[in-house]
Amino acid sequence: MSDAPLYFDHNATSPLAAGVFEAMRPYLQEAYHNPSSASETARPVRVAIEEARRATAALLGAKRSDQVRFTSGGTESIHAAFFSACHGGPHGNRRRIGIGGAEHSATQGAAQRWSEAGYRVSTLPVDGRGCLALGDLQSFLDEGDVAFVSILAANNETGAQQDLTGFAEAIVAAGARWHVDAVQMPGKSPIPEGAWGAHWLSISGHKFGAPKGIGALYSADSDQQPCWLAGGGQEHQQRGGTENVAGIVGLGVAAQQARERAEDGPRRAAWAALRDRLESRLCAAIPGAYVHASGGPRVPNTTFVCLPGLPAEFLLPMIEQGGLLASAGSACDATHWKPSPVLLAMGVDPEHASASLRLSLGPETTQEQVDRAVEILIQAHAWLRPGEAS
Ligand code: PLP
Repeated sequence: MSDAPLYFDHNATSPLAAGVFEAMRPYLQEAYHNPSSASETARPVRVAIEEARRATAALLGAKRSDQVRFTSGGTESIHAAFFSACHGGPHGNRRRIGIGGAEHSATQGAAQRWSEAGYRVSTLPVDGRGCLALGDLQSFLDEGDVAFVSILAANNETGAQQDLTGFAEAIVAAGARWHVDAVQMPGKSPIPEGAWGAHWLSISGHKFGAPKGIGALYSADSDQQPCWLAGGGQEHQQRGGTENVAGIVGLGVAAQQARERAEDGPRRAAWAALRDRLESRLCAAIPGAYVHASGGPRVPNTTFVCLPGLPAEFLLPMIEQGGLLASAGSACDATHWKPSPVLLAMGVDPEHASASLRLSLGPETTQEQVDRAVEILIQAHAWLRPGEAS
């Protein structure tokens, strides 16, 4: 068995997928030319970018590859979507923005920015799984003056999947526009053609086997898309800055694999079965243990498990010593020990929220690794709460 720690934190970031580094390497060495250069030498670089755009478009459910713009990752894509809907300030009475109650901090940060520019931001209520009911969205829209709504497709902490059926109809009927944060979807669950009828959709490469610092924004009306980063004329004059060519090529390769994985039903089921095995073994061994958001659809790789009486603050360093890497929720909050805001929004009490651990499996995670991870957790539990294990 390898001495490398068991990695159960794929929702935070993933290792490069097979073939990604090899595909990128030439664009860091021989084919390093600036794609904006008029030279013939740079032509293969431009061709490689467009090839990656086609693979990314297929992953995102885009009808045309020119609906895809490359960005530096999920946070930039989300901010670009907010900018596209809100720039210029509130239009007439349309001064309201709605975001889900269990959104990633990137969305909360963008909403905060636009509240400072005169928009009124409402956080829409979520249920015990962190999901938003269509009826609650409708009530929010019925109050009028809504410019923009941003909703998470799959929660990074619990894995809960939002049912987005009917959202497009309701939002468009209210004259508003909307964005889907699909950062945790690629490779785990298919993104339907037309991207649920959303105006914008965001993804981030490092969550599915591409490098960090590359992502994409899908824009349904890409011709109308305003420029959010003024500079050179890159990305159809909408996002200035010399392209991260190697990152884009890596994104294209990872996107193709992620699409194939997500569309492979038996493979998804096998992945979920491994996750279920982890959950059932843990819950059988640790008194009072339970899984958050287990009552509804979830992406197949994620579990957020409460181990009562064991604050993650103490448990995480202990399991890391034992050779297991996991997290207490969003990686962006890992240095601040506070209960997960996602769990609090779902109505979990702060004590249970603080005693919760997110384990996220990768596409190559094996049953042997799952069983070893469970053993490490049970040992750590026995050490911290002697006499309790069953
Ligand atoms: N949205 C979700 C759901 C995420 O999980 C993350 C990253 O953790 C982001 C947005 C931000 O993505 P990035 O790290 O690429 O900026």
